[in-house]
Amino acid sequence: MSTEAVAAFADGELSDSAAHRARAHIVVCDECWREVNIQRAAAERLRQGSQGDSVRAPESLLQRLNEVAAQAQCAADVRRRSNWRRG
Ligand SMILES: [Zn+2]
Repeated sequence: MSTEAVAAFADGELSDSAAHRARAHIVVCDECWREVNIQRAAAERLRQGSQGDSVRAPESLLQRLNEVAAQAQCAADVRRRSNWRRG
């Protein structure tokens, strides 16, 4: 994912379908997963500074995604592998 997409996803600014795709990528991509967490923590700090506790990160969802990511491969890696097998 691009840094912008990661930031938008962390901020909840993606459309439903885009956010769905982002989520599907994050559960298989450790790098983007980490990036989203960093962006989210930064955004959270900003929000807490201005709005108090009105916005909270869905920690249970993050935890579940993290568990799945721990046992999943990167989608790009899978794609690369299937290309190698071609021919
Ligand atoms: Zn990725």
